[in-house]
Amino acid sequence: MTAPPAPSQPSGALARYEAVIGIEVHCQLRTASKMFCGCSNTYADDPPNTHTCPVCLGLPGALPVINKRAVEHVLATGAAIEATTPPATRWDRKNYFYPDLPKGYQISQYDLPLAANGRLSFQTSEGEVTIGITRAHLEEDTAKLVHGTDEAGRRVSLIDFNRSGAPLMEIVTDPDVRSAEQARRYAEELQALLRAIGASDADMERGQMRVEANISLRPRGTEPFGTRVEVKNMNSFRSVERAIAFEIERQAAALDAGETLTQDTRGWNEDRGMTYVMRSKEDSHDYRYFPEPDLPPLRVDADWLASIRAGLPELPAARRARYQADLGLSGYDAAVIVADAQATVLFEDARSSEPNADPKALANWVTGAFLGLLKMDPEAAGRVEASELADLVRRVGAGELSGTNAKEVFAAHAADGATVASIVEARGFRQISDSGALGAVIDDVIAANPKAVADFQAGKPVLGFFVGQVMKATRGQANAALVQEAVRGRLEGDPGS
Ligand SMILES: [Zn+2]
Repeated sequence: MTAPPAPSQPSGALARYEAVIGIEVHCQLRTASKMFCGCSNTYADDPPNTHTCPVCLGLPGALPVINKRAVEHVLATGAAIEATTPPATRWDRKNYFYPDLPKGYQISQYDLPLAANGRLSFQTSEGEVTIGITRAHLEEDTAKLVHGTDEAGRRVSLIDFNRSGAPLMEIVTDPDVRSAEQARRYAEELQALLRAIGASDADMERGQMRVEANISLRPRGTEPFGTRVEVKNMNSFRSVERAIAFEIERQAAALDAGETLTQDTRGWNEDRGMTYVMRSKEDSHDYRYFPEPDLPPLRVDADWLASIRAGLPELPAARRARYQADLGLSGYDAAVIVADAQATVLFEDARSSEPNADPKALANWVTGAFLGLLKMDPEAAGRVEASELADLVRRVGAGELSGTNAKEVFAAHAADGATVASIVEARGFRQISDSGALGAVIDDVIAANPKAVADFQAGKPVLGFFVGQVMKATRGQANAALVQEAVRGRLEGDPGS
């Protein structure tokens, strides 16, 4: 007999090589206006080039003005990841030419980022992991290139400046990440954190959070870094994990074959499940950073920073721990609720509205019915009122409403916002927990199903069938637990049940 391998033992390429991974995340900040001008920062569904002005079009002579809210989002992020913020920071120009960058430079931060030396901890299948965060800085986004064909069938590239100058936060980790799973979990945890503090909606599919990874391998037990490959175009958490797992295997196979890796930038092709070369090192830029002459250095007042720190909400890790320790939720339920901002608000507000509602029952409704609806029909999910959900959970807990009917009430409430009380009243729902009233129905069901009675006596599992028949006869209003007990009692020959 052979023992199964210990789960923490690295398999495949990771048995021979250690992966050294650093992650860069760009996220769009939630502000009313753009980074250095007054143009609206809410442009996602608007026609191209409808949110522009001389500043974000990069016209000569236009002068930038700093968006205070954007700075506060980065300071809040820094506080949440326990980073340090220098008393004064400044802006730098990152120079390069590309059609989506009209000024020929991007205003960014080079050697004095708004936040440095932070960390983020999260759970993985192998326990808790802490990743160091080198820096978080503020910069402006580029315009968006749209490639297509014109009426004459010629290939054209169009530029939409709506995104140009939008506030962007770049967050860079230390090379601490050791596996594809850790990379995915880091990105998920960062998203939950950014949403919790309101800095960004951080939706990867919508490009509000863009994840890039620097990956190299070194033989286990050695220190020097291997050749680093940058991977881009990972548009979901799943892609992050798949792309990095693929890249680790690809590099290990090359190293095993005695090949020399090249320092490429690679893209991830989701359909083919592989990375491909986008550009090689020869194309790498010298950005010639220099201080931005159009903006003064930014002083970060200690009181300002203290008030931002004091205003931080409960962070995801603390919230998960509280849900488990104080409310008795499972680690899974706590993680699922905290990972979704709407679910968290619904859960918290429902608990405030009915402090006596069973937290586990409430969590089941939030993780099941609510998150299911949010996926299928976000508009309907948006109509779910915390106080109504709390009322629903209270009625089920008090035995006034059956589980079956409660699902129907939840759907009806989400459909048009009607109150739980009015739906229960209109549909005549009340759970029948009275054994006298149920007894007659149960007797009828037993009398009508002699074959199932014989099956029960032969030891077949038919109790569920009887409960289902009673539910049908009572339009789902019977107390299922009571019915089950009563049916069993009668079939086992105890008419008093
Ligand atoms: Zn503008």
